[in-house]
Amino acid sequence: MLTRRRFLRQMALAGVGSQLLPYAGALNAAPRKQPNILFLFSDDHSLQTLGAYRTRLQDFVRKHRITPNLEQLAAEGATFNNSFVCNSICGPSRAAILTGKHSKINGFWTNGQRFDGSQWTMPQAFQKAGYQTALFGKWHLASTPTGFDVSEILPGQGMYYNPDFITKDGERIREQGYCTEIIADKTLDWLENGRDKDKPFFLCSWHKAPHRTWMPEPKYMDLLDDVDVPEPDNLFDDYAGRSSALKLQKMSIRDEINLAGDAKVTPPVVTSTPEEILASAEKSASRDGATFAEFKRMTDAQKEAWDAHYVPRNRKFRAKKLTGDALTRWKYQAYMKDYIRCIKSLDEQIGRVLTYLKDNGLAENTIVVYSSDQGFYNGEHGWYDKRWIYEESLRNPFIIKWPGVVKPGRRINAMIQNIDYAPTLLECAGIDAPSDVQGDSFKPILEGKTPEDWRKTILYTYYGRGAHAVKTHYGVRGRRFKLVHFPETDEWEFYDIKKDPTEMKNLYGQAKYEKPVARMKRELKRLGEKYRVL
Ligand code: CA
Repeated sequence: MLTRRRFLRQMALAGVGSQLLPYAGALNAAPRKQPNILFLFSDDHSLQTLGAYRTRLQDFVRKHRITPNLEQLAAEGATFNNSFVCNSICGPSRAAILTGKHSKINGFWTNGQRFDGSQWTMPQAFQKAGYQTALFGKWHLASTPTGFDVSEILPGQGMYYNPDFITKDGERIREQGYCTEIIADKTLDWLENGRDKDKPFFLCSWHKAPHRTWMPEPKYMDLLDDVDVPEPDNLFDDYAGRSSALKLQKMSIRDEINLAGDAKVTPPVVTSTPEEILASAEKSASRDGATFAEFKRMTDAQKEAWDAHYVPRNRKFRAKKLTGDALTRWKYQAYMKDYIRCIKSLDEQIGRVLTYLKDNGLAENTIVVYSSDQGFYNGEHGWYDKRWIYEESLRNPFIIKWPGVVKPGRRINAMIQNIDYAPTLLECAGIDAPSDVQGDSFKPILEGKTPEDWRKTILYTYYGRGAHAVKTHYGVRGRRFKLVHFPETDEWEFYDIKKDPTEMKNLYGQAKYEKPVARMKRELKRLGEKYRVL
């Protein structure tokens, strides 16, 4: 039998009557039940490596089936092409999401600070409104989560292998296995056994993957072994014509991907002592002990699996005696393959959770969001990491499925920002956000009705006190142009993103662009004042 919803969907697909009939199923007489919300979140997942996005690596990612479950989610929901963060780094992005406010207003603008969980946050609002709230996985805000009935979080950055979790009671427990799978297990266990099935839920399943140091799961260590990941054209960017800050950064694949820690060129972990492994790291000037801390936690079986992959690879690498650009290219491959392998596990575990929703009658009334705390450089400008206002880290993935409301397979160009998630998700549940929340609800956009006055620019702020020597910069991104200011040196950049999507040509100071530069400067000032951050 053709249900009303399916009938409407077929009409919409056929382009018939889509102007007349809202897709939202608003004709249904019965009020909708408050939707459940499943917020799937990752750390540092680039758009380039998500097959749902039309980006540099899309063909590669699709061919090797790295993100089939996220692509399926996008096919069942909407993909936002222009989703941006307000500050492209882990803690600040999470704080912006929780509060709906820019960094300087929510008080968490750089990693290493402590989030003030006593202020208004989205999970508290859900909790107060009668939702069950739960959080499993990465938190990285130093303070204890507030607004969650249940939480089990990774301490700090967390570990990939046999990670510790901190429970709501403050107890530290160590789990055996691979972090991404364990977070999915905890999510599934709560869905099945932990919650009150008569109440709606707000469930955060927040992954560590694919954060540095990109430790793959044993079963995917050999994935992509025999292929090369395509390089970006600007892997050897010389930063000509742009501000001095680009040359000062310490996040290049050439100089900062260290061989022992990041690229895992270590002695065998089964037969070496932790001290011997660490000594090899020091020889290669490693400044990141995270990989070695992972080795220390591994079981013998995990170590054996590790060596089975990395020992022969490292033997081959040493025999080649690479230097210069060839060495940078090898590091790029080592980094990208481990990064993508972590994403493969992430996608698989997300798939398990989405399958559970479908198999248990929860899919129809659950809003599913997939996002990441920022984008990431996959060799563009010679970099890994994030922090900059340039496209690869300014944009973040945002996919949302809401059966009966969001038309499946939509690609949305309206500009959204991470400060919008809280007011949006709350409005979807019929809950008001306080008026001092700075983000805007894009629920109307989900319903296919983008308001006339919807934003056409976003404000970006980065506060250069963290790692990787990226200087403080502010900027505004419009639909076509981007203006960037480095206040310490008073240097400016201006890009035509349409003509120069990889942002290699700084047009600031060119007579031809005087007018749009002046317009964007006014816009930067306006937004800085509006949000009270500049
Ligand atoms: Ca991050």
